Amino acid sequence: MTATAAPTAAPFRFFDVQVVRTLRLGPSMLRITFTGERLAELASGGRDQRFKLFLPQPHQAAPVFDDMGDGWYAAWRGQDPAERPLMRSYTIREQRHDPAEFDVDFALHGADDPASPGGGPASRWALRARPGDRLTVLAPAVEDNGGVDFRPPPGTDWILLTGDETALPAIAGILAWLSPGTVAKVWIEVGHEGDRQPLPSFADTEVDWLVRDHAAPRHGEPAVDALRAAELPEGTPYAWIAGEAGTVKAVRRHLVGERGFDRRAVKFTGYWRRGASEEELLAELTAAATGTAGK
Ligand SMILES: Cc1cc2nc3c(=O)[nH]c(=O)nc-3n(C[C@H](O)[C@H](O)[C@H](O)COP(=O)(O)OP(=O)(O)OC[C@H]3O[C@@H](n4cnc5c(N)ncnc54)[C@H](O)[C@@H]3O)c2cc1C
Repeated sequence: MTATAAPTAAPFRFFDVQVVRTLRLGPSMLRITFTGERLAELASGGRDQRFKLFLPQPHQAAPVFDDMGDGWYAAWRGQDPAERPLMRSYTIREQRHDPAEFDVDFALHGADDPASPGGGPASRWALRARPGDRLTVLAPAVEDNGGVDFRPPPGTDWILLTGDETALPAIAGILAWLSPGTVAKVWIEVGHEGDRQPLPSFADTEVDWLVRDHAAPRHGEPAVDALRAAELPEGTPYAWIAGEAGTVKAVRRHLVGERGFDRRAVKFTGYWRRGASEEELLAELTAAATGTAGK
């Protein structure tokens, strides 16, 4: 789980943003379009551009930071957890310059289930978001930044992309970025038929939508099964895998162990882990980095 590690501020910068509009994309996904005064200074690198989103606590109108300078991370960690902004990782689905806006597609993961509302703070916030609602993001100020992972090396013959609905915004961004003539094979696992969406690309793409609701299989199973059964093109591949951490590991193991992919040509990122919130994942990473895990 490299994705949730503490981000460095440069070349990332804090931007105060507000909701312009929301658009329901399907049963599982909601698009929120943001704007902000300084958004002309935001520079998405496209593809799977990650950024951090900071939500206000339920009793606050906007996120409250003690420090937004270079020492923000230590200050944020030192803040009272009931007062400090909630931090989550998301993808810039698309940035536009006139007017200055960007879209984020949120997987609701049960936040809107009337029988037993689930989700987490970010998906619940997204579901309730209204024009004018405010939050803060830590986002890139230069296009060439460390928050873009999709970087196929020279000599790549074809691209393999796979992920669940949390990875769909990144997959869409990658497909929109690929050049004509690139061969891309794509497997996307979603909860419902209605979650399919158009994925415009100049590349030569073949997209396989794997819908869980047919036989109600476990999250991740359709993707692993489809990859195992797939006939893959000849030539040198570059694979990009994201989504639930256990599924990501299983797909990577299959590609490297059973299909002989060069491990350096497989970029894999756990975007979330079953049963763990992003705070819990960050706490694990911090404990591992400081050698306090298990103490
Ligand atoms: C680099 C990166 C980019 C990401 N981009 C996106 C994006 O563009 N769109 C997007 O929707 N997500 C994206 N994610 C995933 C998102 O950060 C997580 O799903 C996050 O946990 C959601 O926060 P939350 O507050 O809703 O839930 P949390 O409070 O973090 O978790 C609450 C519970 O929900 C479970 N959970 C979390 N996500 C899911 C899910 N999708 N399905 C089922 N259960 C879940 C957790 O295991 C936990 O038990 C990205 C993650 C990373 C690391």
